[in-house]
Amino acid sequence: MPPKNFKCKQCGQCCLNLLDAFTTCATDEDVEMWEQEGRDDILEWVDTIQFGDQCVHDIWVSPVSHDDVEQCPWLRKLPNQDKYICRIHDVKPEHCRNYPLSWQHAKETGCPGFDD
Ligand code: SF4
Ligand code: SF4
Repeated sequence: MPPKNFKCKQCGQCCLNLLDAFTTCATDEDVEMWEQEGRDDILEWVDTIQFGDQCVHDIWVSPVSHDDVEQCPWLRKLPNQDKYICRIHDVKPEHCRNYPLSWQHAKETGCPGFDD
């Protein structure tokens, strides 16, 4: 969970501009959640690679080109507003749920979610 005293301004900075927001890895728990929820629409953007008895869940990978995306497929701009939403907000990956990790992390990465 993001820290207290934080309110997302829906500016899209994290999802649009931080490469590690949308070219990163999902956790085993993320993948299990999507499997339990029957979210094949999400799972088709996950490239799972097995290393021995461990898996790496690469996100997001285009199911068409099989390349890493250049923009998150779940990000949508609200019409006539300078605001963005995540279309999988309720089931977004842990990596996204945890952003920003701290006030300092927010400041360093350009997130305006903390009032100064
Ligand atoms: S950068 Fe911060 S305020 Fe902007 S959308 Fe991301 S979490 Fe929200
Ligand atoms: S899944 Fe949602 S929160 Fe995560 S990068 Fe994409 S739009 Fe942003």
